[in-house]
Amino acid sequence: MKTISDLGDLRGKRVLVRSDLNVPLDGSTITDDGRIRASAPTIKTLADAGARVLVCAHLGRPKGAPEAKYSLAPVAERLGEVLGTEVLFAEDTVGDDAKAKAAALEDGQVLLLENLRFNSGETAKSDDERAEFAGELASLADVFVSDGFGVVHRKQASVYDVARLLPHATGGLVSTEVDVLRRLTKDPERPYAVVLGGAKVSDKLGVIGNLLGTADRLLIGGGMVFTFLAAQGHEVGKSLLEADQIDTVKGYLERAEEEGVEIVLPVDVVAADAFSADADHEVVPADAIPPDRMGLDIGPESSRLFAQKLADCRTVFWNGPMGAFEMAPYAAGTKAVAEALVDVTKGGALTVVGGGDSAAAVRQLGFADDNFGHISTGGGASLEYLEGKELPGLTVLEEGDA
Ligand code: ADP
Ligand code: MG
Repeated sequence: MKTISDLGDLRGKRVLVRSDLNVPLDGSTITDDGRIRASAPTIKTLADAGARVLVCAHLGRPKGAPEAKYSLAPVAERLGEVLGTEVLFAEDTVGDDAKAKAAALEDGQVLLLENLRFNSGETAKSDDERAEFAGELASLADVFVSDGFGVVHRKQASVYDVARLLPHATGGLVSTEVDVLRRLTKDPERPYAVVLGGAKVSDKLGVIGNLLGTADRLLIGGGMVFTFLAAQGHEVGKSLLEADQIDTVKGYLERAEEEGVEIVLPVDVVAADAFSADADHEVVPADAIPPDRMGLDIGPESSRLFAQKLADCRTVFWNGPMGAFEMAPYAAGTKAVAEALVDVTKGGALTVVGGGDSAAAVRQLGFADDNFGHISTGGGASLEYLEGKELPGLTVLEEGDA
């Protein structure tokens, strides 16, 4: 894959950069600007080289037409603050305003185009529709830089199709992310533990299957753990349960045993009588959840167990919070895992936090990004990579220029 330095002299060239600026918003307030900060260095490198930088990105899931609440305008402002320079904003993606502002760009200036997903071509299933929109994007620029790691697993116009139309290179963020994932998959230092949590086990079944072949330990918490507990024959009360996955999970438990992968499940859970911060809650053994309660976090004994299972690890990948951390009474398990990762990081282990909610959780709980080896900007993309799937946005870069 070519990098930006392989593109030659960029002064005066129009460079289209696909970034992942899909930040969580509360109204027009950005509640976690991690993805903006992670995207800024590539944009700055290009602007400093004298390029005329057109940044394209998506926000949320609009349905192929403009929707004010998904406008990238607040992101343009925050990106400007992070870069320490004005970021111009186009009110459309490939329309009259984008064309006029792209044409007027001066060397070193940065223009953010409005939400890609305001255009139905961006995510269209039809190759022709996507190619048509990609053609409009490509007509704005001379060169393409792919730096939106959070979307490289998507076959979308601004990720895949546009790279086939313009000379292209991999941005610094995508390169960093891929390097880290390579270290996790190619001969990781052992013991190698993977901590999985989050809401749904069905989101992560594929990766669990693949990890049974590479990881030494699999620690499981979050909402998905109840399907594991149910597979072991335990009552899980009103906890999140995907009954249709119990058999698959049983199969994984057997395979883990055969392959010598240690599966670590919580021994106690925080069980509440409702999904709410002020619900009545108590710590109960993991095999004795009362029928009228739901598990919303791993318990304190489990936190100690998980920390102990991580303490001697040389490589740890963590995806998915251990509990409903957004509510203070259920944040302790996630905090304990974060602390265990910080400790092994200090001891020289490679630690990777993947997943939007996991990244938000560690920041919300007061951890600094550099407490960990790497905080990935792409949960879905990193899971698909670890699952061994082909990521279209990377394949197209490897294919070279059209
Ligand atoms: P990530 O974005 O890091 O990949 P997910 O999206 O898979 O993580 O899951 C995050 C969500 O899982 C959080 O909103 C959290 O509240 C929820 N969650 C974690 N544990 C539980 C639980 N025991 N019950 C219900 N929801 C949970
Ligand atoms: Mg999530």
